[in-house]
Amino acid sequence: MNDTDLFRKSAAKDTFSSPDFYAIDDLLTEEHLMIRQSVRDFVKKEISPIIEDVAQKAQFPYAIVRKMGETGVFGPTLPENLGGQGVDYIAYGLMMQEIERGDSGMRSTASVQGSLVMYPIYRFGSEEQKQKFLPRLGSGELLGCFGLTEPDFGSNPSGMLTHFSDEGDYFLLNGSKMWISNAPLADIAVVWAKNEAGRVKGLIVEKGMEGFSAPEIHGKWSLRTSITGELVFNNVKVPKENILPLADGLSSPMQCLDNARYGIAWGALGAAMDCYEAARKYSIERIQFGKPLAAFQLTQKKLAEMLTEITKAQLVCWRLGVLKNDNKATSAQISLAKRNNVAIALQIAREARQILGGNGITGEFPVMRHLMNLESVVTYEGTHDIHLLILGNEITGIQAFK
Ligand SMILES: Cc1cc2nc3c(=O)[nH]c(=O)nc-3n(C[C@H](O)[C@H](O)[C@H](O)COP(=O)(O)OP(=O)(O)OC[C@H]3O[C@@H](n4cnc5c(N)ncnc54)[C@H](O)[C@@H]3O)c2cc1C
Repeated sequence: MNDTDLFRKSAAKDTFSSPDFYAIDDLLTEEHLMIRQSVRDFVKKEISPIIEDVAQKAQFPYAIVRKMGETGVFGPTLPENLGGQGVDYIAYGLMMQEIERGDSGMRSTASVQGSLVMYPIYRFGSEEQKQKFLPRLGSGELLGCFGLTEPDFGSNPSGMLTHFSDEGDYFLLNGSKMWISNAPLADIAVVWAKNEAGRVKGLIVEKGMEGFSAPEIHGKWSLRTSITGELVFNNVKVPKENILPLADGLSSPMQCLDNARYGIAWGALGAAMDCYEAARKYSIERIQFGKPLAAFQLTQKKLAEMLTEITKAQLVCWRLGVLKNDNKATSAQISLAKRNNVAIALQIAREARQILGGNGITGEFPVMRHLMNLESVVTYEGTHDIHLLILGNEITGIQAFK
């Protein structure tokens, strides 16, 4: 049996169902439950059978983009005539939970496309830009990326060097971006750059524009199913109609990040659930010293603590979703959820890997892949410590960033 057969065999055993210790399903509507089920079925059919294989080979399964588009996971809160599904934020969160249960790299593709490419065009774009790009991004016909981070400006994007000047007929763009998900394959890039007055603006840069390239970053041990690259702008002439007219200042990309971070809070929960379920099932089947691992108090402690943290994180997500639906969720509340849920997911992945013993390091189980993926998720979209500083600022009124 070759590796691919092995992974297919283990994926065929994908019997995942999410823990629901506090009957949180009772807080969901029929529509929420239906959407969660359809995305769960999609993951079992289209992601589980291939994911270990492509992760081992560090390949982005490009065909998944269209399939995700057909399933409706790109920008689902946007109106249906603009590429979305018109669903609420809890439905969106459940979609991200299920996709990241499959793999964080796949959820990254969905988050970038929906929250970081479609959302800014919807929120800050012109009517022409919306009509031109949103339906095709929603269906997965086009793939997008979001360029904020630079080689020397990650946690501090306000220092960005990428800039453009007004040349009358067009804008002339220069600079570079680093660590950009989807970049090498993206048809369009939403790029954040400073104008001559030093004000951050958003530009849509299209594949094929002269002077624009997007080389791939190789050698990642994390998010191996997601393609990451740089964006390089060397005197790129960007047509004037490609500026996002309503984007003004750093708060514009930050609003996009709030949406994506909200999805990550749910997504990390999905990865945590998958690790918990893998460890729980394994501990019941695996016999050591004449008993299942599950019969030892130390294993039970691990499992009980995992379920406790998952249940708390589920409640945080659900409540945050209600606040988002009411347009009341603050950036600091979203920081708390992203920070907490990724941290507990990492902790659960580590503990689950221990329960699986030697088997835990192989691709026969999803745990090591989740663990490695979560090392990126804890860093991108605001690191663990940056979210702590956002909360510290909220609590004290004192900024401790600088
Ligand atoms: C796989 C992957 C995909 C990504 N995709 C995208 C994307 O699509 N688009 C995009 O724009 N970016 C993307 N990023 C970039 C990501 O958002 C940045 O990596 C992240 O913001 C951190 O920036 P940095 O790596 O430059 O680290 P740095 O900012 O250099 O931080 C390094 C460490 O210093 C700490 N630190 C920094 N400042 C402070 C401070 N004031 N006080 C205390 N500690 C501090 C940080 O918490 C961190 O632990 C991606 C990154 C990865 C790894």
